[in-house]
Amino acid sequence: MHDSIRIGFTYKTNFWNNKKSSGTIYSGVGPINECYDHSNANGNLYALSGFMNASFYNHTREERKTLALKQLQSYYGPIALDFENYEECVWKHEKHTTIGDSTNNLQPQQNNGHPLYRKAQLNNRLFIAGAETSAVFPGKMEGAITSAGNVYKLLKAIYK
Ligand SMILES: Cc1cc2nc3c(=O)[nH]c(=O)nc-3n(C[C@H](O)[C@H](O)[C@H](O)COP(=O)(O)OP(=O)(O)OC[C@H]3O[C@@H](n4cnc5c(N)ncnc54)[C@H](O)[C@@H]3O)c2cc1C
Repeated sequence: MHDSIRIGFTYKTNFWNNKKSSGTIYSGVGPINECYDHSNANGNLYALSGFMNASFYNHTREERKTLALKQLQSYYGPIALDFENYEECVWKHEKHTTIGDSTNNLQPQQNNGHPLYRKAQLNNRLFIAGAETSAVFPGKMEGAITSAGNVYKLLKAIYK
């Protein structure tokens, strides 16, 4: 995810869900660029979650939280401040997915959907599944599901 920043708040109610609002936010001024209703399917846990502009990686967790709340408050009023939990992931700080030398960044997703990923390897002992292997929507949820289906078919054909 390169330098993405993900933020999320849980709430006691889904106050954003009314005739005039859905919890979906797109903002060109930020700091939250995108935000969605992340409540559960049963409708008894409520959350807003989305992406913060990557340039905020150097702020503290507390500063990011405060800035995000300020933005949510500007849309929904003071009720937005009454959250239960705040969680975030600053991908730039994730040691297993970030290269320290920022001048040598890998071009993201450059081999997505490469046909080699969809071939059985090591004499039918290694199968590669995952969103990035898919010929359709590689790197996306649809790609992940398609890829799982492809590997299932491959295994079934080989080990019938
Ligand atoms: C922040 C973010 C936002 C995204 N937004 C969207 C979006 O809006 N729309 C969209 O379509 N896609 C989006 N994606 C992409 C989508 O979520 C991924 O492409 C998809 O979830 C990948 O699915 P997967 O099954 O290939 O891999 P994953 O979901 O990554 O599953 C891999 C699993 O393997 C496990 N694992 C890793 N190593 C080992 C090991 N050694 N042993 C056992 N288990 C292991 C991991 O814990 C993980 O559970 C987003 C991704 C991120 C990170």
